[in-house]
Amino acid sequence: MLLSGGIDSTTALHLTKRKQGVRALTFEYAGIARRELAAAQAIALRAGVFEHRIVRLPDLREAADIPGFTPSGLPPTYIPLKNSIFYAFAASYAEETGATCIVGGHNRDDAKVFADASPEFFGALQRSLWSGSPILRRNRLKIARPLSRLTKPAVIRLAASLGVPFELTWSCHRDTEEHCWRCDGCLSRTRCFKEAGIVDPLAAQSREN
Ligand SMILES: [Zn+2]
Repeated sequence: MLLSGGIDSTTALHLTKRKQGVRALTFEYAGIARRELAAAQAIALRAGVFEHRIVRLPDLREAADIPGFTPSGLPPTYIPLKNSIFYAFAASYAEETGATCIVGGHNRDDAKVFADASPEFFGALQRSLWSGSPILRRNRLKIARPLSRLTKPAVIRLAASLGVPFELTWSCHRDTEEHCWRCDGCLSRTRCFKEAGIVDPLAAQSREN
C-alpha cells in the first residue's frame, strides 16, 4: 500500500486494511513537507498496518525544486517519473515480503494530468514487473487502484462513509505546522470537500482557532 498521508491514499488504505498483513510504504523525497510524513505515520499507526516502511529518496525532487526544469502542462509538484520509481520500490518490497498486490490511491483526475497515473501505464508496468521477476509472476502480483474511477469529491464521500480520519490527513504543499489554506493543495482540498458536501474537520478546527 503506497501511503502519502493525503486523503486519496488514506481512503485506499481504509478500503484495504481489513485484509491481513497490509504493509504501508511512504517515500521521503527531497522537500516533502515534514507534516505530510508525520501524517502518513499517524495514519498507518491508526490503521494498524503490519509494517510501515519509509523509503528515503533525497535526490528525488519536485519540478519546482529543479532549476531550469519547467515541464509544460504539469504542476510544480510534478516529480519526474515518480510512479515508475515508487512502484519499482513497491514491487521490490512485494518480492521481499511475498505480497500479492500493490495498492495505489490514484483518483480519476490524476490520470488526466499525469501520464504515469494512466491505466495504460499501470498495465504495461505490471507486465514489465512480471517479466522482470519470476517471484512476482509466480505470486501473480497485481497493481490495484481502487479509486481510479472516482473524482476527488467522490473519494471524499467514500472516505466519509468508511470513517477515514480526515483530521490526520495532510494536503498542504508548504512545510508548515498547520495547513496554510492558500496553496494549490489546500485550495483543492477546500473545493473538493465543498463539492462533496462534507465538512472538513481540519478546516472547521482552523476557523475556530
Ligand atoms: Zn497549503
